[in-house]
Amino acid sequence: MTLHPLPEWEIPEQTAQIARASFPKGNMYMKMYDELGVLYQDVEFAGLFPAKCGQSAMSPGKLALITVMQFCEGLSDRQAADAVRSRIDWKYALGLELTDSGFDCSVLSEFRNRLCEHDLENKLLDLMLVKFQEKKLIKNRSKQRTDSTQVIAAIRQLNRLELVGETLRAALNSIAFVEPEWLRAMISDEWFERYSWRFDNYRLPKNKKEREELALKIGFDGHYLLHQIWFGNHEKVGLCQLESVEILRQVWMQQYTFDRSGLVWRNAEQTGLTPHSICIVSPYDIEARNSTKREINWTGYKVHLSETCDDSTPNLITNVETTSSTTPDGEITSIIHQKLANKDLLPQEHYVDAAYVDAYQLVESHQVHQVSLIGPVAIDTSWQANLKTGFDISAFIINWEQQIAICPQGNFSRLWRKARDCNQNPLIEVVFDRKTCASCPVRINCTSSSTAARKIKLRPREEFQALQQRRHQQQTSEFEQKYALRAGVEGTISQAVRRFDLRRTRYFGLAKTHLQQIATACAINLSRFFAWSNHLTPAHTRTSSFARLRVHAA
Ligand code: SF4
Repeated sequence: MTLHPLPEWEIPEQTAQIARASFPKGNMYMKMYDELGVLYQDVEFAGLFPAKCGQSAMSPGKLALITVMQFCEGLSDRQAADAVRSRIDWKYALGLELTDSGFDCSVLSEFRNRLCEHDLENKLLDLMLVKFQEKKLIKNRSKQRTDSTQVIAAIRQLNRLELVGETLRAALNSIAFVEPEWLRAMISDEWFERYSWRFDNYRLPKNKKEREELALKIGFDGHYLLHQIWFGNHEKVGLCQLESVEILRQVWMQQYTFDRSGLVWRNAEQTGLTPHSICIVSPYDIEARNSTKREINWTGYKVHLSETCDDSTPNLITNVETTSSTTPDGEITSIIHQKLANKDLLPQEHYVDAAYVDAYQLVESHQVHQVSLIGPVAIDTSWQANLKTGFDISAFIINWEQQIAICPQGNFSRLWRKARDCNQNPLIEVVFDRKTCASCPVRINCTSSSTAARKIKLRPREEFQALQQRRHQQQTSEFEQKYALRAGVEGTISQAVRRFDLRRTRYFGLAKTHLQQIATACAINLSRFFAWSNHLTPAHTRTSSFARLRVHAA
């Protein structure tokens, strides 16, 4: 394989001749090279390899391109290495001689490790986007849309009993590798019967009491092992450094606690369970989390895809965020904007669903990035808003300068004070006069209390005004028509899941899962660029004959 960092890869003449004869109209990889040039220069990945030890044996720029091409076709590392050796279109895109013998497939795995260790996963997409920007395929300050989907971790879903058993088994396996004699002296023969095989190979008890007894037995074993590692023998202090022992310690803290009777297995009723957002669900992928969204429960991660959505350019993915499955979408909005700002790819209008929008996001995106967040906000769910005749917050006139509110009866508020909600977000609490409210003829529409005065809670001024304005806007047909543009991102998610297997991660851990999502986004972008350069327009959503009848009738 060519080893030197050339400014541009030159395709060997023989390779070019045979490739053009084989693909007279070109294929996706040939078009990529012909129209975009070299996507990844070696210099961009120079930090991956130590300078003193010399140049990497493989060109990192080409390895980056092979990683993307691998995900274009869903190939394993071995299949990708074979494709480099045997396929003429791959040799053309990579600028390789026909006789090039390629490389061992393990190089790809090592390259991915280095990308993750150096936080360079995003470079695969960022460098590709620079090429698209140069070709003016991404408009400056235009429209983009974002949506998320679940990603299933590459682990088996374990119940709590299997989790503690499997965690202890994983720790025993690691210790048996580094300190076999020490471990043999520490444990009884019973341990071999209990922890020699995968825990789901056992017929675990179905009875609740028996399950608790087994969980407690495993708990005592794990606690005994941790005690021996930390306090039993000072010469074995190195065992504390083992990753599987640290995972054992964390899982035991999450799954067990102590009360007066000693060690107990946590339960929801008495001791409380560890929150899903921090609870380890498998010793083999400690960053995966269990989450539920509506009726879907999954263990793994969540990916957020942002794409352009202009009429005259292909819809290209501009940003990929991979998070824990329990991270709310609303926490990602400002992160996406900051990442897009760093790439000089901020849109003018950003179309998202309700999970990404709240009053704070509306104000912050506009003030910091001058981005209009187009999406519905949560409606007012108070009983006053649900009751047609009720006085919800929109029925009050707020005078921000004088810090008073005027109720529908024309009465002024008595108290205006700063407060905080349960998440420590700032609020303003406004209280009316108790005596006035007590004698109010329309009190039944305003407050459910027979004695207390009406209180209202307001967001800070900008947020309150943005929220009220959006609640009003989202009921209009103009907003509905405009917001319809967001729905197109569902097609992108569908393409990513069905064609590129986005929903299943191949790897353990958040960083490598993110790398897979980035490579998948690059693959989608290349396929869309190829379709666009061949004048293939995206298909419109199909409508059934029966549904069309209604449109015609209207
Ligand atoms: S109950 Fe109090 S706040 Fe509500 S309308 Fe009557 S006077 Fe105004």
